[in-house]
Amino acid sequence: MQVERIKGWLLIVALVALAVVAAWKVEDLGRSDRRSLQSRPAEVMGTSCRVIAVPGDNAEPRAAASAAGRALKEAEAALRRVEAEMSRHIHASALSRLNAAPAHKPVMLPPAVLEVLRDSQDLHAQTRGAFDVTSRPLIELWRSAGEVGKLPSRADIDRARRASDWTSLELGQKTALKRTNTVQVDLGGIAKGYGIDRAAEALRAAGMAGGLVDVGGDLRVFGSPPQGQAWEVKVQDPKGPGTIVTLAVKDGAVCTSGGYHRYVTIDGRQYSHIIDPRTGEPAQAVASATVLAADTTTADAWATALSVVGEEGLAWLPKKVEALLVVAAHDQLRSVMTRGMKQRIVAGPVYPVSEKQGDASGRGAR
Ligand code: ADP
Ligand code: MG
Repeated sequence: MQVERIKGWLLIVALVALAVVAAWKVEDLGRSDRRSLQSRPAEVMGTSCRVIAVPGDNAEPRAAASAAGRALKEAEAALRRVEAEMSRHIHASALSRLNAAPAHKPVMLPPAVLEVLRDSQDLHAQTRGAFDVTSRPLIELWRSAGEVGKLPSRADIDRARRASDWTSLELGQKTALKRTNTVQVDLGGIAKGYGIDRAAEALRAAGMAGGLVDVGGDLRVFGSPPQGQAWEVKVQDPKGPGTIVTLAVKDGAVCTSGGYHRYVTIDGRQYSHIIDPRTGEPAQAVASATVLAADTTTADAWATALSVVGEEGLAWLPKKVEALLVVAAHDQLRSVMTRGMKQRIVAGPVYPVSEKQGDASGRGAR
């Protein structure tokens, strides 16, 4: 009898849990007769994820809702495909195959990985070396320093710097070739952005009139939001749980980098997970760097690069790439931003705008 009762309770608890999980996964955001759907797939690329699909206005509500459901699934699949090819945690990923390959042997790579490598090479030049996916030995050195709680020696840092750079990696049509055994690639600063772009494309290809793909706070939006004219994008405060600025974006990508949520602690000091390839030391130029661009691949890489170089890098931004930096000056935080970024702000910034700014981009009036 007792056992039966417990079984009954367990069943009820399980059913309630199942209902909660289902509700969490796909949520109806439908307003008026537009059936927008939102899903929160299980963790992807090591972080949380949120996708919104907004069907067109003229679809019949039930058909619209099922089209949105399909679109969400395709977007999630696109993210997971990119993760499977580019993750350093997945032993069988194409990236891991490249890293494990010996020198002078061409490694066949999927088109997406080659595309990201080519973009990374361009970005390396544009950012004057601040964005460098071949910095992996340095990234690993600092990651393991954090694990054992001991700073690496100068000799270790110099060795890791010499082990890997772009001159030792050759990109072909379908292959990449390592010129040395020690060159190693880490796509952690760009693959998430690339995945978000592919997921947004999948939403569009599935016929959605609007959509949002957000992976760990980096996001891309397009078309009509479920409400209003533009999507409201909130940028997280590097020093706390709040928002530093709210942006209105119709079509575009916003990515934020900084040492604030991923870092290692050694001897009570925090070190960013972003490395300055020029010195081999963890980056410390900014509290956070937020970049707005047409695509997430660009925004993701530039946010990482500006975390390395800080204000100086604003002058190197390509046209139509905008940025907001939070930097420390005399123990106080302040905001430095490009003119185009300022135009997108609907609330904030919380930290005072730098006095000497003018056009902080240094790119002249655009
Ligand atoms: P997050 O992943 O927290 O959004 P980023 O987009 O800035 O942050 O990416 C940080 C990751 O990029 C690091 O964990 C590392 O894998 C990689 N990385 C670190 N420094 C560099 C660099 N200078 N250039 C390119 N990639 C980097
Ligand atoms: Mg990045």
